[in-house]
Amino acid sequence: MLTLDANNNTQASLSLQAANQGITNIAPYQTGKPIDELKRELGLDDIIKLASNENPLGCSPLAKQAMQDELAEVGRYPDGSGYTLKATIARTFNVAMPQITLGNGSNDILELVARTFVSTDHSVVYSQHAFAIYALVTQAVGATGIEVPAKDFGHDLVAIAKAVRADTRVVFLANPNNPTGTWFEEAEFTTFMQSVSKSVLVVLDEAYVEYFPDNFDSLKFLKQYPNLLISRTFSKAYGLASLRVGFALATAEVTDLLNRVRQPFNVNSFALAAANAALGDTDFLAQTRALNHAGMAQLEAGCTTLGLTWIPSRANFLSIHVERNGAQVFQDLLKLGVIVRPIGGYGLPDYIRVSIGTAEENQRFLQALAQVLGR
Ligand SMILES: *Cc1c(COP(=O)(O)O)cnc(C)c1O
Repeated sequence: MLTLDANNNTQASLSLQAANQGITNIAPYQTGKPIDELKRELGLDDIIKLASNENPLGCSPLAKQAMQDELAEVGRYPDGSGYTLKATIARTFNVAMPQITLGNGSNDILELVARTFVSTDHSVVYSQHAFAIYALVTQAVGATGIEVPAKDFGHDLVAIAKAVRADTRVVFLANPNNPTGTWFEEAEFTTFMQSVSKSVLVVLDEAYVEYFPDNFDSLKFLKQYPNLLISRTFSKAYGLASLRVGFALATAEVTDLLNRVRQPFNVNSFALAAANAALGDTDFLAQTRALNHAGMAQLEAGCTTLGLTWIPSRANFLSIHVERNGAQVFQDLLKLGVIVRPIGGYGLPDYIRVSIGTAEENQRFLQALAQVLGR
């Protein structure tokens, strides 16, 4: 009930029941602990953050320059159509501009999808251990979330296809998935797309695709399946997490609908300029990939030495089986100035997720982990 007292504003209050259906059940998204917060709490100076799958190299110098160049125009609204960035995306990925939706991070894209296609009468399907935002955007529009049990920690595409109901509007797939790093192959995906009704929008979230680009070329499926939407981000390999910019590729029809719901200025001018420049820096991307591959090998070797297992990953992080309460290990690592992510909220209570950092950061993490586990 909405209680508003016009004569006494101090009593005006919105009770829980006034919220839209589903909102009160939402568990707020847990973000990685910021470095400054840990500094304040523990008075530590030398802190490393391996908690949010950020790029340890930062971003391309071309992107930094593009942001500098943008400063003079800070008083003006950004280009609401994002023309220049869309033109570069179109050229880079061989799609047409009317197939592109820009988002304030790819999070914005996922939310736009839910708000455009899903309401209280519908269901949305996603996997156990999948990226938390899928459940969150589903609940936010009052729809029913259907969580399909994982197989070897990854998406079970056969079971996901079977879970689709007559009222299902959207299926969210993450390839690779966060926080497990698990992936699926082209053959499985092809079978999946063939078995799912064309009236269900399949959202293929490829936030980490740049790290292992050989997995498969999803873009070619856009021509074949009008119910496919591919979501990408500049937050991970491109190193622009703080700017908030991502994009969706889909048919012109789906794109037109999403853009009716999209805020006109959802991507700011610094983000537009930096993302545009970042796409042109293939050297930076190659460097990022090389550092990630070396870091993955370093962390896997370190885990082997410690007698620990992990979930094989094709992203820029590794989820490690710490064989005890992951939240406690997270706390103990904090005291040593190392921020990782506990993933009990994802149904993996005895795991921690660590983002791959520089060689020094990875080493420091492994040493801290050895100390915390007494190994
Ligand atoms: C990090 C991440 C995203 C999106 O991040 P944005 O910063 O909003 O672009 C999307 N999907 C997955 C699976 C992620 O891990």
